[in-house]
Amino acid sequence: MHIASKLPQVGTTIFTVMSQLAQQYNAINLGQGFPDFKMDKVLIELADKAMTGGCNQYTHTNGLPALRGTLAEKVKQLYTTSIDPETQITITPGGTYAIYTALTSILHPGDEVIVFEPAYDSYVPDIVLNGAKPVFIALQYPAYSIPWDEVTKNINAKTKAIIINSPHNPTGTVLSEEDIEALRILVANTAIIIVSDEVYEHLIFDGTPHQSLLRYPDLLERSFIIFSFGKTYHCTGWKLGYCIAAAPLMQEFRKVHQFNCFSCDTPKQYALATYLQEKDKYVQLGTQIQQKRDYFRTLMQQTGFVCIPSHGSYFECYSYAALSNKPDTAFAIELVQKAGVATIPVSSFYHNKTDEKVLRFCFAKKEATLLEAAERLKHL
Ligand code: PMP
Ligand code: GLN
Repeated sequence: MHIASKLPQVGTTIFTVMSQLAQQYNAINLGQGFPDFKMDKVLIELADKAMTGGCNQYTHTNGLPALRGTLAEKVKQLYTTSIDPETQITITPGGTYAIYTALTSILHPGDEVIVFEPAYDSYVPDIVLNGAKPVFIALQYPAYSIPWDEVTKNINAKTKAIIINSPHNPTGTVLSEEDIEALRILVANTAIIIVSDEVYEHLIFDGTPHQSLLRYPDLLERSFIIFSFGKTYHCTGWKLGYCIAAAPLMQEFRKVHQFNCFSCDTPKQYALATYLQEKDKYVQLGTQIQQKRDYFRTLMQQTGFVCIPSHGSYFECYSYAALSNKPDTAFAIELVQKAGVATIPVSSFYHNKTDEKVLRFCFAKKEATLLEAAERLKHL
């Protein structure tokens, strides 16, 4: 049967491709972003308790009220912003779903959305599926900074939204106060909506404060802000996250959400509502994961790869220009096959496959995993 594809340009995501290759060649997987260390047993026990205690039916479509209430308290403490859990928070099956839902709830055919590249790979298909048009702006290599002048030039009457992501996947860059100021000036007196992907909220290093849009009431009123429990609590397979938005935006978000998912995993929401009381768990996360970044960076100094410093996320990018002239995807495949290490070629995060000879490494791994990977990379 012939189906007119809604995504004719799209194949299998690079994360699946590289993870499958890693399995096939028994390689160390520093490609797809997931930890290889165990999540906290306490959180597992809380989920277990909720299940055996009978919390196994649908919960509220917007998310377990206790969980939303706890999240509002957390936001108040971290960002001194009051959020109404009744009207402004919705629990979702992961951050990816929340991004899709946010875009679907606002985009009409012909709308334009500003996308910074390299970009997390779900943004563009989400835009295209809604009949809208991505407008690409390349971050400036090698600092991967936002060229705000160029953004200004690309704004027009059709610009419906801008997607930002800090800490950034794949580059590990973080937005500064100056970036926020530039964004503020740009959107003031426009109807532009911001989708702010903050799934790495707590994975931020070197004492840098996270520039959440939750800090800025004038930006919050035009934003969907997206988070992921999978990233914060090292349980990416739980696929739970949440979206915070101004009430009128959230109203539209929920119209889409109620017919696409209705409600999310109940026992895990009970578990998270309790576990979130342990503030240290998320407050200390940046320091813990920074140790892994630093350890991996030191190991990588013994290889021919050159670091492009990460300031947050699970990832650090490295240039291999000194090692090979091959295109990054070919080089990444060769690394799996010959060195037994899987990475992600950064060209896969660009619509036009811009190739700076850079690979993304996930360092959210046990020290032994990182050590073994670096040993293999030394001998290239
Ligand atoms: N945004 C970015 C930038 C990510 O790296 C991820 C991780 N997969 C997500 C969103 C979504 O996370 P999840 O759907 O697993 O909660
Ligand atoms: N966010 C993860 C990454 O960037 C993986 C997400 C996915 O596999 N879709 O590697």
